[in-house]
Amino acid sequence: MAGKKPCDLIVKNAGQLLTLKAATDGPRRGPLMSDLGLISGGSVAVRDGEIVAADRADVVERAVEVATGTLVIDARGKVVMPGFVDPHTHVVYCGSRVDEFEARLLGKTYKEIAQEGGGINATVNRVRRAERDELVDESLPRLERMLEWGTTTLEAKSGYGLTTDDEIKMLLAIRDLDGMQPIQLVPTFMGAHQIPPEYARERGKYIDLVVDEMIPEVVERELAGFCDVFCEPGFFSTDEAERILRAGIEAGLAPKLHADEFSSSGGAQLAAKIGAVSADHLAAPSGDGLIALSKTDCVAVLLPGTSFLLGEHKYAPAKGMIELGIPVALGTDCNPGSSPIEAMTLSIGLGCVLLGLTPAQAVCAATINAAHAVGLGGSVGSLEVGKQADMLILDVADYRLLAYHFATNHVQTVIKRGGIAHHKHS
Ligand SMILES: [Zn+2]
Repeated sequence: MAGKKPCDLIVKNAGQLLTLKAATDGPRRGPLMSDLGLISGGSVAVRDGEIVAADRADVVERAVEVATGTLVIDARGKVVMPGFVDPHTHVVYCGSRVDEFEARLLGKTYKEIAQEGGGINATVNRVRRAERDELVDESLPRLERMLEWGTTTLEAKSGYGLTTDDEIKMLLAIRDLDGMQPIQLVPTFMGAHQIPPEYARERGKYIDLVVDEMIPEVVERELAGFCDVFCEPGFFSTDEAERILRAGIEAGLAPKLHADEFSSSGGAQLAAKIGAVSADHLAAPSGDGLIALSKTDCVAVLLPGTSFLLGEHKYAPAKGMIELGIPVALGTDCNPGSSPIEAMTLSIGLGCVLLGLTPAQAVCAATINAAHAVGLGGSVGSLEVGKQADMLILDVADYRLLAYHFATNHVQTVIKRGGIAHHKHS
């Protein structure tokens, strides 16, 4: 019929369609974090991987043409929502650190384990010994599980190589993985994850190496869009982090920061000062740090699973952040040491129970705000015309079950760029 848009996929009559559409192009702040753009009885139409309509079912029906080749999925009684964006992972690694998990249960702290040669160094040793293919082979099943639990985009950091060649190897593995399975990977260079043991007595030389050799090579080979630093006493000071991040900015890498995870050490202020795209962890920020952040577009990426699994009982003040107008996102921090968590729904559940988010705020944090935290707010994270068709069909009628019944996988179908990327067989 004249004027109707053709489509190759339509997901129709969703009991709850969460569009996450809002009157802003930026990350959602304050009350907007509670507005999921929920439509009862909504449909989404897709053409060539892009959303051409997302609205009430009758409106979409009038706007699009359903032809013989159109795949029609009836989502009656189900939730349809954007795919999860996991904005903070160290998902590419080798080996497990279950021994450290047990050591912590027996009373050792994360810092003590690191001082004894465990922690990040244990994984660095494994990754340095591994070939690029081994990194890919070990990480691929993790990505497959993440997809099954609804993640359609994720950020992946280097940072277990800590030599130029090994950091490049990690970023090449991330690029390989991006091309071989449906989840879209956003690569971040994190050569400043920790000072490697061989530079323990001359940390300045390691920082020179990051600035003078690693960053230029990463940029020349176009292997990352972001640069991240673990800014925390015992890892990198705020001055060191600033030097590295400014070198990254000059070379074209947007700054991110592991900030104030264990102690108030100026990480949030630094994130605000240098215009970081995200400040991550923030389990122990200062009041001044939060006020500084609230005046910027920096997204606070909160990782409640890490605080939970480390058993430190110190959680990011998410409610206060939202009251201050800081946009909040949630991630898994998937890594072998402090958070072997793959499911974004676990972050949503813990975000509600431990950080005090409402289910709506947690969903916003795991989709559109997480998309902004990885620089993709314009293409993923909400179901709006012109955006990439990354969406989930949940086999429940109420989205709040994501938070309430969080240890069960409610994801029935995962759609990435308009294609069926996963379907749960019941
Ligand atoms: Zn991290």
